[in-house]
Amino acid sequence: MPNWSHDIPDDPRGYGLPIMRCPTQTTMEAIVTCENLVGCDTHFWAGHTVPCTKPDCDPCSDGSRWTWHAYLSCYNPKNDEHFIFECTQRGAMPFKEFFKAHMTLRGCQFQAYRWKRAKNGRVQIKCTPTGFNHNLLPKAPILENVMAIIWKLPMPNVWVRGAEHEHPRIHADPETEAQHLNLKDDHSETA
Ligand SMILES: [Zn+2]
Repeated sequence: MPNWSHDIPDDPRGYGLPIMRCPTQTTMEAIVTCENLVGCDTHFWAGHTVPCTKPDCDPCSDGSRWTWHAYLSCYNPKNDEHFIFECTQRGAMPFKEFFKAHMTLRGCQFQAYRWKRAKNGRVQIKCTPTGFNHNLLPKAPILENVMAIIWKLPMPNVWVRGAEHEHPRIHADPETEAQHLNLKDDHSETA
């Protein structure tokens, strides 16, 4: 007999958000909802972007090149969409400047477009403080947990450790569940 319930089980990693990159033909406009971005070395491997898990990293062992990417949660009030924005180190520099000036990225309104609208054109980002009421912005997710969902890691064994290029650095380890459990405790203590 199935055990039916009206409750939808929660994903222990929290809720998922779609990931978006800078479009080619249009300009993306959004407002950052997280306090700071997180960054991570990633590989494009087997058709997907995956986190680099060096020193034990299959793509690295395969000779795959890694690229640092920044991730931040963003909100578009026009379509009420909350999503993760991914950009490169160079693209992320205006966010770094904004953070230095305001000590937070939450409420940073930005436009992102590609140079000459070219498919691989360099991403240009312009940041301005928004007049949008911060209280109306959605609550920021725990970025590491959202990235665990996006990267299909079984549990949120992704966490911020140290810094890279002065940004908090995500560390992903798909193997170490025991560490994840300890780190989950760390999260609840700091929450
Ligand atoms: Zn790697």
